[in-house]
Amino acid sequence: MTPSANTDHFDVGVVGLGPTGLVMAHLLAEHGLRVLVLEREPEHYGMARAVHTDDECLRILQRAGVADEVHAAMISDLPVRWIRADGKVSGQFHDPSTPLDWPKANFLYQPEFEATLEARLQERDTVTIRRGRAVIGVAQDGDSVEVTHAECAGADYGRSEARLVDGTTETTRMPYLIAADGGRSVIRTSLDIAMTGRSFPQRWLVIDLSARPGTRPFDHLSEFDFICDAQRPTVSCPQPGNRHRFEFMLHDDDQTAEFEDTEMAVQLLSRHVDAADVVIDRQLVYTVNALVAARWRVGRIFLAGDAAHMTPQFIGQGMNAGIRDADNLSWKLADVIHHRLDPSNLETYESERRPHAKATIDLSVFNKDLVSTGNRSLCRLRDVGLPLASRMPLAGDFIKEAKMKPRPRFRSGYLGMPRGRRLTRSRRAGRRPSC
Ligand SMILES: Cc1cc2nc3c(=O)[nH]c(=O)nc-3n(C[C@H](O)[C@H](O)[C@H](O)COP(=O)(O)OP(=O)(O)OC[C@H]3O[C@@H](n4cnc5c(N)ncnc54)[C@H](O)[C@@H]3O)c2cc1C
Repeated sequence: MTPSANTDHFDVGVVGLGPTGLVMAHLLAEHGLRVLVLEREPEHYGMARAVHTDDECLRILQRAGVADEVHAAMISDLPVRWIRADGKVSGQFHDPSTPLDWPKANFLYQPEFEATLEARLQERDTVTIRRGRAVIGVAQDGDSVEVTHAECAGADYGRSEARLVDGTTETTRMPYLIAADGGRSVIRTSLDIAMTGRSFPQRWLVIDLSARPGTRPFDHLSEFDFICDAQRPTVSCPQPGNRHRFEFMLHDDDQTAEFEDTEMAVQLLSRHVDAADVVIDRQLVYTVNALVAARWRVGRIFLAGDAAHMTPQFIGQGMNAGIRDADNLSWKLADVIHHRLDPSNLETYESERRPHAKATIDLSVFNKDLVSTGNRSLCRLRDVGLPLASRMPLAGDFIKEAKMKPRPRFRSGYLGMPRGRRLTRSRRAGRRPSC
């Protein structure tokens, strides 16, 4: 380590101000820790990617003190439907019950969601946010992590190289560091941690729309629909603020550049909305990744969110997986730093979170295949099987009440540990398992 490291007194460093870093920093501060947050982009302009969150994550956001405000800007309780090519409904998830006091399905606009979380984070006395600082290196010894960072004019949220400013490098030391720096994590790469799983060749065009002033072009599209049409599998997603998202699957011979052209967007949209009433905010082709990092921790550095796992968007749980990471890791780090928990318990972050993240990815891949298959026999099976399953007692609950969603289970986690390893000094009252 360099002797010149800036030794400001931070307990934890968080790299990345996406949803994972934002929620992580809130929860660490809630637990009384001093947090330094480093974010490469000088300004938040946000990328609309995530559109959905659930009751479990709103519960976590409630602990972070922000749930009421972010939820007020969401649309809740929309039915989620699987639609056949002929327009008939094959299956539907719609469960208005609120066992956790929050609706089970909530639709958000990610830039607005992140802006609210950041505004509230800025109000926290123990959190220091440094935007326009890109982490370019990490080192650690038995006591602390040293982070090297430099001024950055931005990286277009990963679409271009980070534009670093010469002569602005600083180092900061802290006991623990959380890499919430996204799917292309610089920290994960510098630690030489591989991602395992699959990247699919399939491409999807995502089009984000907003209504022109004085128009309501999306009123007839009030459900979240997976349109299982082998000609062009499509996702139609209502968004708050008179916005809407469409996702269209590309076939193997479709050209990406052609599909990122406005003319193609207008053609694809014409089946669904009056193009004269809408503004295209974003039109981008994505590939689908189902990947998990081989290790989530090296010494005092932890990976979280997309840096640790990348979930296909087909059950709307990628961002939520990062929020669950924040929930799981933040209280453990706080208790270790406050000498209430033996540091060996930090191992349970990965052993508890990995199986759930993997199960979520697997379910998402399953739904991607269900929606996008072009195989005629499988299409027929899906179109007949889904309505049948929906009418059966157990299978019907799985679909209508989203019971297929993986539940957190702790076979080898904190709750599975012998008592002596679990607690060193005091047991916090009312400790409950993390999501
Ligand atoms: C089309 C699409 C639809 C989706 N829909 C959903 C959905 O409905 N629900 C859901 O839960 N999820 C969804 N997801 C997934 C979700 O968007 C991501 O899982 C989530 O945004 C990841 O959050 P994160 O904070 O881990 O990473 P990111 O949001 O990628 O944030 C990482 C941050 O780290 C910063 N950074 C990177 N490198 C550095 C560095 N070296 N130094 C400092 N800062 C750095 C970046 O600038 C960025 O701000 C969807 C994804 C896509 C592509």
